[in-house]
Amino acid sequence: MRPRDLLCPKPDGLYCAPGDFYIDPVRPVPRALITHGHSDHARSGHGSVLATRQTLDIMGLRYGEDFAGSTQEAVLGETLNINGVAVTFHPAGHVLGSAQICVEHEGMRIAASGDYKRQPDATCLPFEPIRCDVFITEATFGLPVFRHPPDSHEIAKLVKSTEQFPERAHLVGAYALGKAQRVIRLLRDSGYGKPIYIHGAMATLCEYYQSEGIDLGDLRPATVEGGSKDDFAGAIVLGPSSAFADRWARRFPDPISSFASGWMRIRQRAKQGGVELPLIISDHSDWDELLETIVETGASEIWVTHGREEALVRWCELQGISAKALHLVGYEDEGD
Ligand SMILES: [Zn+2]
Repeated sequence: MRPRDLLCPKPDGLYCAPGDFYIDPVRPVPRALITHGHSDHARSGHGSVLATRQTLDIMGLRYGEDFAGSTQEAVLGETLNINGVAVTFHPAGHVLGSAQICVEHEGMRIAASGDYKRQPDATCLPFEPIRCDVFITEATFGLPVFRHPPDSHEIAKLVKSTEQFPERAHLVGAYALGKAQRVIRLLRDSGYGKPIYIHGAMATLCEYYQSEGIDLGDLRPATVEGGSKDDFAGAIVLGPSSAFADRWARRFPDPISSFASGWMRIRQRAKQGGVELPLIISDHSDWDELLETIVETGASEIWVTHGREEALVRWCELQGISAKALHLVGYEDEGD
């Protein structure tokens, strides 16, 4: 069996013909297997969805309980048979509930990683390398310039800034699923015990993480009703970065603008976005993690998708590993 007979890129997403299902389809399909809850991978309107319990929960919170015709939980490490194709979900280390999906049929094994990272993250299970014939890797940060520093180092910069500027609010832009909870948890692990204020758009997912046993400490709504501006002096406030451009942000005293993203490695990008305190914290693999993972899977063929495919394809070829860009469309990760 050739790899493309098992999984093949189609306009709707990666399609498995023998199993008759899609992985992370971008349009409604009868049967979808979903790697994680970010909106570019997990969409509503499918006939049936197979995903981890946490991903199903997250989809329910974001889209409402009727987000699919029917749902089925995939237990990590347990193999299911779908029309003769063996399907197993393994942790991806990206956000809570995130999984790689391994499909195997007639001796051919392909692992679709979705999005993944190798840096430790206390808010989700660590990535598990899977031996496979073909490894499908993301390439969000697939250039040698992207090397993420230790996250504790970035968080220390934020805490230090609150000590240096105790009269100013620190507005930290972070994606609502994954990044926000990771930043909060990193603050707690660094010993930061003060209340952390969150934008309303993050409340439901933060509560969900807490209900799953991820301790985020004292979280409070970032509203000034009944209080004064000075209540936020020296405080850390998390919100979607889009909120920081509008009226919502004007309630805070002399705010320092911060943003937690792998893109903050690029100074120009931080500057253009008016970010004074860039934090290089990413839920995706950096260049070194991508290379390390490709080698670890032992795959003889690499398919590269969402991001900067060319450099990674070239690197694989130089190592004697065959590689190609998948050119799947519709993936612009909301959680970089
Ligand atoms: Zn993602």
